[in-house]
Amino acid sequence: MEFRCVHCGSEVKTLFVQYSPGNIRLMKCDNCKAVADEYIECEITIVLIDLILHKRKAYRHVLYNVLNRNTVDAEMMMEVLLGNFAFFGVLLLMKRLFMKSFSQVTSNKDIFLAILVSSYFKLFVMAMMVWEFPASVLFIIDIFVLSSNAMALTVLQQATMTGGIGMCLGAHAAKVVANHTLEFLLVRVL
Ligand SMILES: [Zn+2]
Repeated sequence: MEFRCVHCGSEVKTLFVQYSPGNIRLMKCDNCKAVADEYIECEITIVLIDLILHKRKAYRHVLYNVLNRNTVDAEMMMEVLLGNFAFFGVLLLMKRLFMKSFSQVTSNKDIFLAILVSSYFKLFVMAMMVWEFPASVLFIIDIFVLSSNAMALTVLQQATMTGGIGMCLGAHAAKVVANHTLEFLLVRVL
């Protein structure tokens, strides 16, 4: 279990030292000398805004310093696992095929968490189903979810943005194909 500096991504032993309740001192990163994770003192809304703005350090904060520490709700895990099975499967396959050198750096759990975190925008899609928005809006949201997924993967894999987008687009295509195949089979059977 290690933490990461949100600025440069290098490992840090601790993020803060607590002297007394409410009295903490944030630790600095040995590598870049900046405060390792200033989000610890920020409100959750600030973190959310930075996630939406695709700030790399916000993704590092959530993926390495928050989610890695707390066990994610099992129910949420199941839902995402079922909903994104094809997406996740293809991502793992692609990682195997194209990113052999990174396989030690990133465990499958990390990738899974990345997808989980950056899919928060899908909540908006669900909301829109209730209010009936035009299809074009859904399309834009979908693109946003994809780019957000790519950003999270890029941070975890320490790869280029193009690589992350490529992986996500491939996986997304597989998900669409899987969904359509399932629909086709269901129509045939029923
Ligand atoms: Zn650093």
